[in-house]
Amino acid sequence: KAKAHGKNGYTIFRPEMYKDSSEELFLETQLRKAVEQNEFVLHYQPQVNIHTGEMIGLEALIRWDHPEVGMIPPCKFIPLAEKTGLIVSIGEWVLEEACRQNKEWQEKKILPKVKVSVNLSTQQFIKQDLVDVMKETLKKTNLDPHCLEVEITESMAMDFSRAVKVLNEISELGVSISMDDFGKGYSSLSYLKRFPIHSLKIDKSFVNDILVDENDAKIVGTIIAMAHGLGMKVIAEGVENKEQLQYLKEQNCDQVQGYYFMKPLSPYELEANLDQMIRDFQNKK
Ligand code: C2E
Ligand code: MG
Ligand code: MG
Ligand code: MG
Repeated sequence: KAKAHGKNGYTIFRPEMYKDSSEELFLETQLRKAVEQNEFVLHYQPQVNIHTGEMIGLEALIRWDHPEVGMIPPCKFIPLAEKTGLIVSIGEWVLEEACRQNKEWQEKKILPKVKVSVNLSTQQFIKQDLVDVMKETLKKTNLDPHCLEVEITESMAMDFSRAVKVLNEISELGVSISMDDFGKGYSSLSYLKRFPIHSLKIDKSFVNDILVDENDAKIVGTIIAMAHGLGMKVIAEGVENKEQLQYLKEQNCDQVQGYYFMKPLSPYELEANLDQMIRDFQNKK
């Protein structure tokens, strides 16, 4: 059955595929092949200082460049990669490639010294050697640890004492830590206080509704005030228009990321558009 879908790439990525175990198995085989043949690419989305318009970082976002299907977004394969454990080798590749690319851009003076943010998965986070892998990757790519950030999510902090230990070790490397999708999961404020987290990333679902839902607007304002009270910076994701940006600015948010500034770009697109982009950010802020 799996074979019948082989010619028509699209059918294998139907959203309901998880209901069908043979399709899942087929996708898993494809994913293993993708790991072996390195079919992944990273796109990069700029992060902007809300007050100055300066580009301060780039988030690395994975895509699967499937030879027949074309670009497949992470939501279509990260869950299966997590389930099968393939995410560990994928994640190690992401980390190294993001560091390598940032270092290359800095050396060629294409980019100033900015941070590259890498999303960590739960499986990666609970693996014993995460900190060693990070240390080795920084050494191998020769990237300044201050130019690397990892994004974790609230669900990774389930084993609280281990999470504190791992996050402290990461922080001691000089790497910064950002709490992604903040507000979406179980946000325990006492966790936040005890984690060495440098920034909170407000989930885009809140940002999206800032202008239409008074409660969301209040929540966003409160998250920002609380984070500042705890000594953290705040970045808002999913900023799509000037009005959302304006509200976030009024609430004293620090950084923004979203389609209003720039969608995630391939390295080639980023290089080609960088000068124009940096000028646009100044005008858009
Ligand atoms: P995330 O880390 O929360 O990333 C933000 C997502 O929002 C990205 O989707 C990005 O393209 C999208 N986005 C950015 N600006 C806007 C906007 O203005 N409006 C809207 N509607 N969306 C915006 P993407 O690239 O499809 O990634 C989805 C998720 O996949 C990520 O969410 C992250 O959880 C996961 N992911 C991506 N790359 C990796 C990776 O290398 N490793 C792991 N473990 N997960 C990854
Ligand atoms: Mg992220
Ligand atoms: Mg997010
Ligand atoms: Mg997300």
